[in-house]
Amino acid sequence: MSYLSKKTVEDLNVAGKRVLVRCDFNVPLKNGVITDENRIVAALPTIQYLLDQGAKVILCSHLGKPKGEPKPELSLAPVAVRLSEKLGKEVVFAADDCVVGENAKAAVAAMKDGDVVLLQNTRYRAEETKNGEALSAELGSLCDLFVNDAFGAAHRAHCSTVGVTAFVEESANGYLMAKEVQFLGNAVNDPVRPFVTILGGAKVADKLNVIENLLNKADTLIIGGGMAYTFLAAKGYGVGTSLLDESKIDYCREMLARAQEKGVKILLPVDCTIAKEFPNPIDAEIDVQVVAADVIPDDMMSLDIGPATAELYANEVKNAKTVVWNGPMGVFENPILAKGTIAVAKALAETDATTIIGGGDSAAAVNTLGFGDKMSHISTGGGASLEFLEGKELPGIAAMSDK
Ligand code: ATP
Repeated sequence: MSYLSKKTVEDLNVAGKRVLVRCDFNVPLKNGVITDENRIVAALPTIQYLLDQGAKVILCSHLGKPKGEPKPELSLAPVAVRLSEKLGKEVVFAADDCVVGENAKAAVAAMKDGDVVLLQNTRYRAEETKNGEALSAELGSLCDLFVNDAFGAAHRAHCSTVGVTAFVEESANGYLMAKEVQFLGNAVNDPVRPFVTILGGAKVADKLNVIENLLNKADTLIIGGGMAYTFLAAKGYGVGTSLLDESKIDYCREMLARAQEKGVKILLPVDCTIAKEFPNPIDAEIDVQVVAADVIPDDMMSLDIGPATAELYANEVKNAKTVVWNGPMGVFENPILAKGTIAVAKALAETDATTIIGGGDSAAAVNTLGFGDKMSHISTGGGASLEFLEGKELPGIAAMSDK
């Protein structure tokens, strides 16, 4: 499937139509207050376009994991309020625990062109994550057309991302979805070279397929974070008490050999920031030492890349034309162990290359460090962007109508 062959919102005739838009309003909440509104802001271009075209705009999303039951603390009500402020117009919130109930039906029936209705958290219904037919049909009964703009949920075949498409006239990608596909798709399938990918995060096992796919695409693969130590073990180094997945040592050895065959450079830590124990709480003061990567003592663990590694990685980024980064270089939640992650974020902020952050922790790290606006693209979907980097087809995009 070519993602570019799918209809986008501009290919639909939306004037006067009821358009259901699947957004990603899965925002962080603290005591009912939205603490980061990025996802709401990211949804605005599609919503505003539809309003300008005279559509009736019905919005839906999941929020958190209510596990198929109504949970008041995971109601989308606060999103309706914030969204209404952003749009400068009323957003009618249809507070049905069953998502498509009497409130939703009445609100949609009363809509005029240019009105906005937001449905309740789709995961209040257990069928949502099972792609059940009843909820898909109910969602479809509210609308004529469907637009998927929730990249963060595009790797899941749920009622509100895939099932509903069987019950509407046409489906299309929204602007945010199209932007994600354009950046991630171009980077992975048609990168301006040198193409450098940086992988970090806790476990090798989470990123096996990503490593394998990127070995076929990238010029350089940089490895940091907890996953680096299984690679170092594969090189025969002792890694002390660092995070290690013994069952994946052979896999890492094979990847190192394959990279050599293909002429892909793999960079691993040359020095490490080590400590006696994992910090508890995670941001506690901690005594650290820097040692070469091949002499980590048996009773110590590496919790960040060292300064020489940070410089090596930053230099590689300097010469790149495309960089994709997923996963922190160390336990970045602790300021003493965030230096490697900060150095990489800074290198990305300073390079002229196209820089793409694959969502999740790396996106949070880049934003917290204040480098957000220096990146070409920060993906709104951690899991979805990872699956994209694995080369998998995303069902939430595949289900859209062809052009
Ligand atoms: P993303 O969310 O960006 O897709 P992710 O893969 O970061 O990437 P995780 O695999 O959960 O998510 O990895 C992030 C976690 O890994 C962080 O909480 C960080 O503290 C931890 N981590 C990083 N380096 C180490 C290390 N050397 N030892 C132990 N934990 C580490």
